[in-house]
Amino acid sequence: MTTPYDRVALIGLGLIASSMSHAIRRAGMTTHITGTARSAETRRIAAEIGICDEVYATAAEAVRDADLIVLAVPVGVMGAVAAEIGPHLKPGAVVTDVGSVKKAVIEAVSPHMPDGVHFVPGHPLAGTEHSGPYSGFASLFDNRWTLIVPPQGTNPGEVARLSDFWRQLGANVDQMEPDHHDLVLAVTSHAPHLIAYTMVGVADDLSRVTDSEVVKYSAAGFRDFTRIAASDPTMWRDVFLTNKTATLEILGRFTEELFALQRAIRVGDGDLLFDYFTHTRAIRRGIIEAGQDTAAPNFGRVGTPEIPDDST
Ligand code: NAP
Repeated sequence: MTTPYDRVALIGLGLIASSMSHAIRRAGMTTHITGTARSAETRRIAAEIGICDEVYATAAEAVRDADLIVLAVPVGVMGAVAAEIGPHLKPGAVVTDVGSVKKAVIEAVSPHMPDGVHFVPGHPLAGTEHSGPYSGFASLFDNRWTLIVPPQGTNPGEVARLSDFWRQLGANVDQMEPDHHDLVLAVTSHAPHLIAYTMVGVADDLSRVTDSEVVKYSAAGFRDFTRIAASDPTMWRDVFLTNKTATLEILGRFTEELFALQRAIRVGDGDLLFDYFTHTRAIRRGIIEAGQDTAAPNFGRVGTPEIPDDST
């Protein structure tokens, strides 16, 4: 294994950064890892579980001499973190991020990147509903896509180096334009999360079904919604506020389809419902054939928390 970056700084030490650290070690890279997080408690845990060689109180200290800096904080604070580290980056350093939204992050981070520093945004399509340094694990990115989303004019050699790094962490790598990324993710992740949040909220509001019944008789579909709706509130608030246009476009389309199905149920149009469900079943088969989920009952998730079950 080669070591694409000798020194990596992780800014934010939650699920994604912690998993990257575990995957770097698993790959056998000799990389020196520094890190920082907002709270003293997270920094203490990171030091205790050894995901960093050195943990610092500030991002400015953590990025000193780093070859690769990974912004792994909620998308709403990427700009502020970039402003803090900008003056402390060494010439030739590469800054990347793992944010779930790309256009807003590029707009927020780019102005703070000094000349001679390469900003190469990225997004691993892998995650779970858990947060914090304890929740990370080495296989999170295995066979999942990481999208590299370089703004125009990004040095192709640095795109290739970052892609190689992600492949060594277990990921498949593709490139995408920022606008297109945000639209694709609105369809595959952001709108589904909002629907899950809504469905769980509806169950909570429905006073004719008691809370204990919702919990006791929770069927597979609803259980999956509750898992998604347990995702980190800060992260998801920021995703919706920063991917507003694409998410609203997809939700508009979703509402139209929902009304069509609602009408089919009201008028008893079984053919429409059957054809619709036949089509959607084929999409599910396609995902399994592409190796992005398992055909096992209950998505193979029972008793196997290590199976990455979310991609934001
Ligand atoms: P996480 O587990 O909640 O960790 C977030 C980290 O950011 C924590 O170390 C937190 O520090 C730090 N942080 C929060 N607010 C901060 C602030 N204002 N200033 C400095 N640090 C701050 O989050 P995550 O799941 O790793 O997500 C990190 C990024 O990855 C997000 O941009 C998210 O969109 C993206 N992403 C997430 C997933 C997923 O499924 N979770 C998947 C792909 C991409 P404290 O612990 O001290 O608060």
